[in-house]
Amino acid sequence: MATTFPEVESETMATATQAPTKYVFFFGGGKAEGDGKMKDVLGGKGAGLAEMTNAGLPVPPGFTIQTEACREFMKTGKTSAEIERQMKEALRSLETLQGQKLGGHDNPLLVSVRSGAKFSMPGMMDTILNLGLNDKSVEALATKSNNPRFAYDSYRRLIQMFGNVVLEIPKHAFDEVFDAKKKTKKAKLDTDLDAKTLKEVVAEYKKVVQKHAKREFPQDAVEQLAMARDAVFRSWNNDRAKHYRRMNNIDDMLGTAVNVQAMVFGNLGETSGTGVGFTRNPANGANEFYGEFLMNAQGEDVVAGVRTPVHISELKSVNPEAYEQLRQITTRLEKHYRDIQDFEFTIQEGKLYMLQTRNGKRTGLAAVKIAIDMVSEGLITKEEGFMRVEPNQLYDFLVPRLDEKSTKIEVLTTGLPASPGAAVGQIVFSAEEAVKKAGHGTTKNPVILVRAETTPEDIAGMEVAAGILTSRGGMTSHAAVVTRGMGKCCVAGAGEIEVHEKTKEMKVKGQLFREGDWLSLDGTTGRVIKGKLNTLPASPDDPMLRQLFAWSEPHRTIGVRANADIPRDAIQARAFGAEGIGLCRTEHMFFAEDRINHMRAMILATTEKDRRAALKKLLPMQRADFVGIFRAMDGFPVTIRTLDPPLHEFLPSREELMVQIGVLEATKPKSPKLKELKTLLKRVNDLHELNPMLGHRGCRLGITYPEITEMQARAILEAAVQVSKEGVKVFPEIMIPLTGGLKEMANQGAIVRRVAEEVFAEKEKKVEYLVGTMIELPRAALVADEIAKDAQFFSFGTNDLTQTTFGFSRDDINKFLPAYLSEGILKQDPFAVLDREGVGQLVRMGVEKGRKTNPKLKVGICGEHGGEPSSVEFCFQVGMNYVSCSPFRVLTARLAAAQAAYVKEHSGAEAGRTK
Ligand code: PEP
Ligand code: MG
Repeated sequence: MATTFPEVESETMATATQAPTKYVFFFGGGKAEGDGKMKDVLGGKGAGLAEMTNAGLPVPPGFTIQTEACREFMKTGKTSAEIERQMKEALRSLETLQGQKLGGHDNPLLVSVRSGAKFSMPGMMDTILNLGLNDKSVEALATKSNNPRFAYDSYRRLIQMFGNVVLEIPKHAFDEVFDAKKKTKKAKLDTDLDAKTLKEVVAEYKKVVQKHAKREFPQDAVEQLAMARDAVFRSWNNDRAKHYRRMNNIDDMLGTAVNVQAMVFGNLGETSGTGVGFTRNPANGANEFYGEFLMNAQGEDVVAGVRTPVHISELKSVNPEAYEQLRQITTRLEKHYRDIQDFEFTIQEGKLYMLQTRNGKRTGLAAVKIAIDMVSEGLITKEEGFMRVEPNQLYDFLVPRLDEKSTKIEVLTTGLPASPGAAVGQIVFSAEEAVKKAGHGTTKNPVILVRAETTPEDIAGMEVAAGILTSRGGMTSHAAVVTRGMGKCCVAGAGEIEVHEKTKEMKVKGQLFREGDWLSLDGTTGRVIKGKLNTLPASPDDPMLRQLFAWSEPHRTIGVRANADIPRDAIQARAFGAEGIGLCRTEHMFFAEDRINHMRAMILATTEKDRRAALKKLLPMQRADFVGIFRAMDGFPVTIRTLDPPLHEFLPSREELMVQIGVLEATKPKSPKLKELKTLLKRVNDLHELNPMLGHRGCRLGITYPEITEMQARAILEAAVQVSKEGVKVFPEIMIPLTGGLKEMANQGAIVRRVAEEVFAEKEKKVEYLVGTMIELPRAALVADEIAKDAQFFSFGTNDLTQTTFGFSRDDINKFLPAYLSEGILKQDPFAVLDREGVGQLVRMGVEKGRKTNPKLKVGICGEHGGEPSSVEFCFQVGMNYVSCSPFRVLTARLAAAQAAYVKEHSGAEAGRTK
């Protein structure tokens, strides 16, 4: 290779961090002021452009206004005079290098203005192309290029993009003008419009600007540039961008850089074109050149779906030299960055230019495959291999996926990958139709429910549908949230699809689909695919996963358990590598159909004797469940929690009972059922609480009704003795919920120990067991040293601990969470990602105080956070022995725990590089 990439530690980087007043970094003429390491300062795009320039690659020159300028803009709402000065200086250098002038009347310089943050946020922020055109320079461009059509096409695009991004004029205002023009001219494609018509479009676009923005489209090119720059800074805080950052855990304060770059044109005729690509397949990781391009087009045409782009391999026949050069350059870039590259290029009159390179986003499947392939290619180490995979992405291995090899794939459009997995089925347009058609479930007559948006009324249809497709709504739309909860595939917000629910039709890219037509969805990538593809089952024991874990597991130092209430879940959890059960919620066993009546009888009992009689009926059922779980977890600890929820949860609702009573009183006043219902209502009223979450629940139940704890302890220990006699290795850990002090713990601990002695004596066999508690209340964390005098282990119930620390109801937070997130009051949902600042302090204190009393105290977590990577890292840092999470998050937790340990071993290593 002729040129090599400079690996030197750049001086400008040092300057940039010490003297942040260098706001603008130039690149061009084979040299850049910045380099590839300066992503914090230049953003990913700016750093990539600098690096490519330094390597002598064909990159149009330009300059990057660094992220500090954006941060200042966020604070002050404006751009300082110093930034303005540096920008003008860089602009002069660019004009000199190009021999052109921005807005010039002879040889005008045109530039693109694009955002570029440290972490790529595809499509989240804004871009403006062809900036510098005005009524005069467009004429100059027409003459110079000898292509008036191109000049006016570029000008109308500028007004449209500038109008939309800078002046905030809705896109459709321009689209209406353009489409009407196409209609009157009977033009099928944009490219069918000639220069004269485009000139008319420009005139009408200017009127649109005047009407909506109450000002003229600015003719001063430098003013255009300043306005565009500030609009890009503003776009950092648009809703899409904020939402994306929240989902990807990206700091709101980073800001974006702005890249101003001399334009090269893909719309100069049939020898010009533009495209995007990846060095490997980002959907499945295959080592193949992947991408698409369009001749005679500008960037947004490729992504906007106005014309259908062509597979990148076709470029070979269109322009073999450019294709070869692109292959060589991108291969070099991948080797240099040692990661899959996502690139953009433009061919201007046969000559190739690189516009961007960055580490490519990829699905979980692709992330694992690429990591493994790159290790075997010798490009990265095994450790880099497992550090590169974002733990959350392993979920992709647990849902069915499309068999990409089965048929030729025609992607109709790409929406938001709202809920992963694959779904193949026949289109229906209403929930009722879904229920009717799907009949006996999703495998027999699979249907895809297609809606503009879903609402809570669609739930029944969503439940039976194999997958959901919506044309509107984002990642937190009803469809997205509900399907993720259901573990069902969903593509949301596929804006290119027109859904006509009334006529039962959908249109996309000029194709019409009716009820009954087959569609395949890929919820992992957001692709909507025509026809009926085969699906492949979930593959948790995929050989690639085994390879990845073979590298990561030796680093993991904390255990990973699962929360599982029934033997089936316990078996599943073990298959994913769980090393025990961290939480078995016994109340779930009481809700089963054959048990709820005994449970109700127990609750309705007015004397201890009657209560004990009802509990006696529940005992063998609970014991049988525990036997199943112990057998499934042979050799591993099983933490079983005594009853936690308030008793009224097992009874019918007050309102429901009152209605039933009212109906019976009016229709069958003599019915014996009426009396029964009235007794039930009385008990429901007795148990009614205004604030049940802080009411008669947790250990408070076991304290007021000790016979419940007794029965449960007996069921657990009898089951343990039974399986132990079968040769199963059993380690029960009996856990008392919601204690707030030593006395509560001691009260319940004493009951368990007494029952244990009784059972061991009766059965003439002992088993090892522990009695411990959940730490779910701030008070429990504060007095953890006291509680540890009686508790043999702690498990942090961070769902309740978050609720009680913030005072946010875990059931009602969604009423105000969106506002809290958009106002920046909260960075993330604290019920999803552990709040290190507040709740985390209590956790840390609880661990430290507990271990002060008992240095060997076993400590874990069983709240939802136990499967969330950043929270897992925190649990590792505070010295927990294990984390426990739902079975489907066990793989994620195992990788996150290994990465956390590796980061500690090698301070400075960064996990989840694909972010
Ligand atoms: C918790 O509060 O974190 C917990 C695991 O218990 P539950 O979710 O059952 O209240
Ligand atoms: Mg709890």
